[in-house]
Amino acid sequence: MAEHLVFVIGSDDDEQIQLVTENIGQNCRITCRVRGETFTADEGDFFEALSTVRRRALEPKGLIPFCYGASLNVWPSGMARDMGQGLSAYKMQMGLPASELVGIFDQGPDVIPSRVEQQAEFAKEWIGSFRNRRKVEGYVLTLKCRRCGSKFPHAIFSGDTDMAIDGLISLTSVERKELVVGELSAHEWKLEDAERISAACERISAALARTDLRPVRVVRWQKAQSTRLSFAAFRKNYKPPVGVYSCPKCGGEAKSIQQQSWSELMTSGGHIEPFGELKLHDPSQFTQR
Ligand SMILES: [Zn+2]
Repeated sequence: MAEHLVFVIGSDDDEQIQLVTENIGQNCRITCRVRGETFTADEGDFFEALSTVRRRALEPKGLIPFCYGASLNVWPSGMARDMGQGLSAYKMQMGLPASELVGIFDQGPDVIPSRVEQQAEFAKEWIGSFRNRRKVEGYVLTLKCRRCGSKFPHAIFSGDTDMAIDGLISLTSVERKELVVGELSAHEWKLEDAERISAACERISAALARTDLRPVRVVRWQKAQSTRLSFAAFRKNYKPPVGVYSCPKCGGEAKSIQQQSWSELMTSGGHIEPFGELKLHDPSQFTQR
């Protein structure tokens, strides 16, 4: 058990609150005494318990504790939460990885007192600022198997340059309307074409503890019409070849029956899971065909 006296912002005089920390079984408890009232928060770590105290007991009174745990630019890493019970957190600087640990009940000249939601918003921006997630553009085909009749999604990647789609892979769930989009690892790049996606599927399935993911391959390209046409008729009637894909359930042949954007798949009861440092992006010019 430890006791911390912390000044608060939003009060006329030099008001302090008392924060008592203790472990109650698996929980981290903070008991807060403020203006003669007592408030208790039990959470998985002390940073979270402090956030609950701030939100429920202090913010309604217009009070913000003057300590690093309530500072705009401070946030605990997953490890700080797991290993240190959230008693320490990192100072964040936009565009830079975290380096300096501070105690959440400590105070310093660079504390920027903030509300819980502002701090969470800052952390979200900070995470986005230094993690350069790869932007993934493309669309989803719904394929229908001609042998077993099942329908399943498959991602097609698009981009302005080859670099934009290099190494991206789409894995289809054989259980539900769901895709996992991932990237080949450096090791998988070195494998033969045919082995790459199987190796990536094994790795990603293991990481996600899933057994329902399968690659979908192009079996062949089918010409849309007869070539015995005059050139004029050919030009007028031309349709690009249609991809014939492998069914992940029965190995039969499947063709596209629908094309959707990432968000259209999501809003129609499907799901896309980006695996790794990927960010799905719907091309703005996308139009449904
Ligand atoms: Zn099938």
